[in-house]
Amino acid sequence: MRVVLLGPPGAGKGTQAARLAATWGVPHVSTGDAFRQAVAEGTPLGKLAQEYMQRGELVPDQVVNGVVAARLARDDCAPGFVLDGYPRTLPQAEALEGMLEERGLRLDAVVDLTVSEEELVRRAAGRRVCSRCGANYHLEFRPPRHAGRCDLCGGELVQREDDRAETVSRRLAVYRRQTAPLVEFYRERGLLVEVDGGGTVEEVTLAILEAVDGRLGRKGGS
Ligand code: AMP
Repeated sequence: MRVVLLGPPGAGKGTQAARLAATWGVPHVSTGDAFRQAVAEGTPLGKLAQEYMQRGELVPDQVVNGVVAARLARDDCAPGFVLDGYPRTLPQAEALEGMLEERGLRLDAVVDLTVSEEELVRRAAGRRVCSRCGANYHLEFRPPRHAGRCDLCGGELVQREDDRAETVSRRLAVYRRQTAPLVEFYRERGLLVEVDGGGTVEEVTLAILEAVDGRLGRKGGS
C-alpha cells in the first residue's frame, strides 16, 4: 500500500497517517517529524530545517527530496508506506514519481483531507505535542489525562512553535500557493480521493479506508 496524505496544516494528516500505517502494517513517513527530530538532535539538517520551519516556510525541495529518497530506500518501505506532509510542491511530486518509477512502482492513492479554514485555525491553536516522544494531543478534542503531561511517557506537552497564530496563517498561505496545485496534479493521474476531514478521528479513518478501497476497486473494510 503506497499512499500519500495531502491536506492543509491542521487537517489531521499526522493522526490519520499513524492510524492508517498501523492498519496496513507499513511505515508512517512524516517529513515534518523527521525535521523535528533533526532539530531536537541538533544535526546540520536540523539547523537548516529549523530556520524555515520557524518562519512557517517550506524547507527547499532538494533537501526534502534527499531525506525522502533515503527513507523510502530502506527495507521497511518495501511493502509500502503512508507519506504525511510530502510531497508539498510540484517539483517534490515529480521527484517522488521518479523515485518510484526507478523501482517500477506507482502510488496506489492520494488522499486529500479537506477541512474548513476556520476549523484549521481552531485545531492548530489547541494542538500540543509531547516534547519527549512526539505524541499528539488537543486541549479540546484529545486532552491528556493529566494537564500538560503525556499519557504515554509523562513528558511535558508543548505547543509547536509553528502552531502559533501568525505562523499558522503563513503556513496556510504557503499551502494554498504551493501545495494546493498538487490536488489537480494527482486528479489528472486518477489517483486522487477526497475525504471530509471534519469528523471525529475514527470517522475520518473509516472514510479514508473506504475511499482508498473504492479507488483500488475492492469492496469491504480492509
Ligand atoms: P508538518 O509537520 O508536516 O506540518 O511540517 C512542519 C514543517 O516542516 C513545515 O511547515 C515545513 O517547514 C517543514 N516541512 C515538512 N515537510 C515538508 C516538505 N515536504 N517540504 C518542505 N518543507 C517541509
